[in-house]
Amino acid sequence: WVAASFTKQQFPLVRLSSDSAAPRTPHFDVIVIGGGHAGTEAATAAARCGSRTLLLTHRVDTIGQMSCNPSFGGIGKGHLMREVDALDGLCSRICDQSGVHYKVLNRRKGPAVWGLRAQIDRKLYKQNMQKEILNTPLLTVQEGAVEDLILTEPEPEHTGKCRVSGVVLVDGSTVYAESVILTTGTFLRGMIVIGLEMHPAGRLGDQPSIGLAQTLEKLGFVVGRLKTGTPPRIAKDSINFSILNKQTPDNPSVPFSFTNETVWIKPEDQLPCYLTYTNPRVDEIVLNNLHLNSHVKETTRGPRYCPSIESKVLRFPNRLHQVWLEPEGMDSDLIYPQGLSMTLPTELQEKMITCIRGLEKAKVIQPGYGVQYDYLDPRQITPSLETHLVQRLFFAGQINGTTGYEEAAAQWEKAREMSQGVIAGINASLRVSRKPPFVVSRTEGYIGVLIDDLTTLGTSEPYRMFTSRVEFRLSLRPDNADIRLTLRGYKDAGCVSQQRYERACWMKSSLEEGISVLKSIEFSSSKWKNLIPEVSISTSRSLPVRALDVLKYEEVDMDSLAKAVPEPLKKYTKCRELAERLKIEATYESVLFHQLQEIKGVQQDEALQLPKDIDYLTIRDVSLSHEVREKLHFSRPQTIGAASRIPGVTPAAIINLLRFVKTTQ
Ligand code: FAD
Repeated sequence: WVAASFTKQQFPLVRLSSDSAAPRTPHFDVIVIGGGHAGTEAATAAARCGSRTLLLTHRVDTIGQMSCNPSFGGIGKGHLMREVDALDGLCSRICDQSGVHYKVLNRRKGPAVWGLRAQIDRKLYKQNMQKEILNTPLLTVQEGAVEDLILTEPEPEHTGKCRVSGVVLVDGSTVYAESVILTTGTFLRGMIVIGLEMHPAGRLGDQPSIGLAQTLEKLGFVVGRLKTGTPPRIAKDSINFSILNKQTPDNPSVPFSFTNETVWIKPEDQLPCYLTYTNPRVDEIVLNNLHLNSHVKETTRGPRYCPSIESKVLRFPNRLHQVWLEPEGMDSDLIYPQGLSMTLPTELQEKMITCIRGLEKAKVIQPGYGVQYDYLDPRQITPSLETHLVQRLFFAGQINGTTGYEEAAAQWEKAREMSQGVIAGINASLRVSRKPPFVVSRTEGYIGVLIDDLTTLGTSEPYRMFTSRVEFRLSLRPDNADIRLTLRGYKDAGCVSQQRYERACWMKSSLEEGISVLKSIEFSSSKWKNLIPEVSISTSRSLPVRALDVLKYEEVDMDSLAKAVPEPLKKYTKCRELAERLKIEATYESVLFHQLQEIKGVQQDEALQLPKDIDYLTIRDVSLSHEVREKLHFSRPQTIGAASRIPGVTPAAIINLLRFVKTTQ
């Protein structure tokens, strides 16, 4: 073997024969580096797929640690959580055991864009996550800092690329594996900033990862630099909540996981959040002290959607900004002031906080800080999250440049890291058993949109999951993620338990049967009016109206419909979830019919695969400009559909590529 501490040009591929090889124990199918949000999902997904997996992380006691805000989900992110759950991932189930305030955002809009969200008890989440991780069959957990990668000769069908076959730890020991997944978050050359002080750290109290960052750069990966930050934590008993706006949780709580009907805690026992606002005094402190704030002055890109309070004051002067005061847990004495991420010197942080309404006597227990770190341009990975450059090496999570806060409605984006984790874990495992990759397309899930955007467009600033990025959002709803992904996850990836699979099959057939029954029941509008007096049906008197169309009316649900027509509808009200999902299906029935045609069109483009070994820089059989060649060479799109989404790849180039693909097929 050879460690990767060579430049790309110097890299000597060492032939490994069974007798000359160095001792190859311990040997795993998959190694996952990092025990954060992406790593925990990746490791458990690989193990569920049947791979002997090793999770290597700095500290076992930080597995499942939330680096920043204690919440999950939100608009767009709730969809991702449901999709991870549909693939039998952990985060949704753990959130249902650890939440302290559940709320569905966007309720006024249709269920397609509802955003499931919860404040989470930080300590409980970590405990529940560690319990799950340490009890996952086929998963071994080991503490250690990975410094380097072990590379061997490529597989015969992929000449020219090296292949990862293990890792070197900081103490020089080695561990081998068939696939390796990096989920190192903000740790690659991590640097913490408060005021003018900077020191190396992955996050507060944790060492950075330097050796691995150097390895990746030497291998030829394109590395960028991003920054993010976290607010100070405030003592709960120092806040005057009585003068602030109180937000109570939903009643009933909507669980994240398809496997749960309720969450662990009753709505009346959950904790409230409070809302306050910044004021001109806050602006003044920021503007007068810019010279003491190196994080804000730095040119490195930071999160655009939930910037630090300093960036908001600079970008939107004279505005009042929302500050949500969020509980950190049931028995925690700390409050997280969402919206007040800052990197001012510590003494100025307290000064700023105490000029905010309700926080006049606030005590800062831990200062806010910024972190700057290396990320890898995600155009260097395929939709299965394997790198183009090194075979069997996968990247998932914040390493792909995906962090970011969001200003509106306190939404955070850990779900992005989870969803990449689960996909990387599945694919690292499938790679070991030489099965085809498991790719979620844009027509199948928010996960597909996220990964397609990252791998085709790249990201020069942290990526935020908007519902507006999703072309088929009326089809890709949080309620139907199981139908979209659980069945595929079971059949194509093997990451879904038998029990979950059977439940999804039952739900799918019950929905299909229910919809067909609802279509078959027809009465005149006046008869419907007699049966359900509260509904006023606007249609020509002579035409019969289907029960499915009556269910579309806001004032009608399956209960009222089944009261009007008990047989055969009563049986569809016995399962609450089924009854609610039939109502949602009815709401979207007509638009979904048209959307299905569009989805078919996109799927045709996606079916047109581009040859894997095509050398865009030199190929003469297809007419492409130099600029387009370079873009295709860098992103290596796998389908015509993906190529067409790369900025700068023109429609003319796509037509030429199409002709080329058709002649080579
Ligand atoms: P992490 O959760 O960071 O996990 C990385 C893991 O890798 C850690 O367990 C670490 O110990 C391990 N590791 C790293 N290098 C090595 C190595 N060489 N060997 C072994 N183990 C290693 N996210 C947001 O969405 N919005 C925000 O506003 C936001 N603000 C943040 C502010 C700060 C200060 C920090 C530190 C993070 C912030 N995040 C924010 C990041 C948020 O926590 C991420 O979304 C999420 O944690 C990233 O998940 P991950 O699994 O990719 O990495």
